[in-house]
Amino acid sequence: MSDQHQNLAIIGHVDHGKSTLVGRLLYETGSVPEHVIEQHREEAEEKGKGGFEFAYVMDNLAEERERGVTIDIAHQEFSTDEYDFTIVDCPGHRDFVKNMITGASQADNAVLVVAADDGVAPQTQEHVFLARTLGIDELIVGINKMDIVDYEESTYDDVVEEVEQLLKQVQFNTDDASFIPISAFEGDNIAEESDNTPWYDGEILLEALNSLPEPEPPTDAPLRLPIQDVYTISGIGTVPVGRIETGIMNTGDNVSFQPSDVGGEVKTIEMHHEEVPTAEPGDNVGFNVRGIGKDDIRRGDVCGPADDPPSVAETFQAQIVVMQHPSVITAGYTPVFHAHTAQVACTIESIDKKMDPASGEVAEENPDFIQSGDAAVVTIRPQKPLSIEPSSEIPELGSFAIRDMGQTIAAGKVLDVHEKE
Ligand code: GDP
Repeated sequence: MSDQHQNLAIIGHVDHGKSTLVGRLLYETGSVPEHVIEQHREEAEEKGKGGFEFAYVMDNLAEERERGVTIDIAHQEFSTDEYDFTIVDCPGHRDFVKNMITGASQADNAVLVVAADDGVAPQTQEHVFLARTLGIDELIVGINKMDIVDYEESTYDDVVEEVEQLLKQVQFNTDDASFIPISAFEGDNIAEESDNTPWYDGEILLEALNSLPEPEPPTDAPLRLPIQDVYTISGIGTVPVGRIETGIMNTGDNVSFQPSDVGGEVKTIEMHHEEVPTAEPGDNVGFNVRGIGKDDIRRGDVCGPADDPPSVAETFQAQIVVMQHPSVITAGYTPVFHAHTAQVACTIESIDKKMDPASGEVAEENPDFIQSGDAAVVTIRPQKPLSIEPSSEIPELGSFAIRDMGQTIAAGKVLDVHEKE
């Protein structure tokens, strides 16, 4: 047990074994409730299959899935010696992209599952590209289903090479990726070194998870606190609430709210119903600012230091990935952008470059349109003032989801902000 926390995404092509791997991790780390295991152990023994509890747990999950009960691997938690892990929404989940980039479930690192008998498949490519766009730091690549390929070293090597090729194509540093031959189903190289892969002497999966770098809270960046709601509380006055994304807030600080463009001195900060003198990234706070009334600020404003206020974009350039769109996207298209707590209609003013998602290189300058699967650099004009930051400077405030017709159609990160005068 540890109190260091990691948000982990499990990515990979459908049927390559993501759910099975999560089940295995929960099982091996003792995160499946004991009574559930006990029940399956008994059943297994009755049927003369002692030692097969894991298979029984997974079969049971599969049965429930067939009965239409959703087994949600997202939000499952398990602990290793080093970290408490939370599995964040996985690609394929309806709101994965939106949640991931609006910060609701920002993943620090990811496990990519690739089935040894299938190799790199279309969603493997898509997810790796997305992981890179959204700034995943380290990738642990589990080459899964090694049992199906008879634990053949040469098959493993071939798949590793294929994945390395893919990582290079999207310019993901292969030094930041580690490869492990596993069987989620049989439990090889997950919690214990497997006898079936004597040719492999690298880390097993739990070791690799333990040696992930500690996520560093962005305390050195300037304060950025997107406002979720604004309350009026008797005896205190106006209380904006939100989660600190970056930087530190102290009582006595002079702050500015953008784009509302008002500011003042922080009088009190409250967290968990207690007054605190200071708050840091990840803290959900309510606070009170001298001279600010309820109608002066709103959800979607960002609070920052008065001498380094949040940027307000007249236009901005961004790299986007089109996830799903029924037709084509052309200049002039005006869907709703979700960035931190803001929702603002924005016009795609120009499509500047189309990128090859496989190579990351420019495929076409000024294309007439882009469509599902395309990556592009576009120039965007918010229809109402929007506070947003270049992803290279403050990544927490530098990404967004584009929503239209009730779904997330694209995700992106901000390359450059052209500020309003
Ligand atoms: P997901 O779609 O990526 O979540 O894949 P699942 O975890 O649902 O697995 C898809 C199928 O592959 C299921 O029938 C699993 O039992 C099977 N599977 C997963 N991992 C392994 C493995 O390591 N070995 C074998 N033989 N089958 C596996």
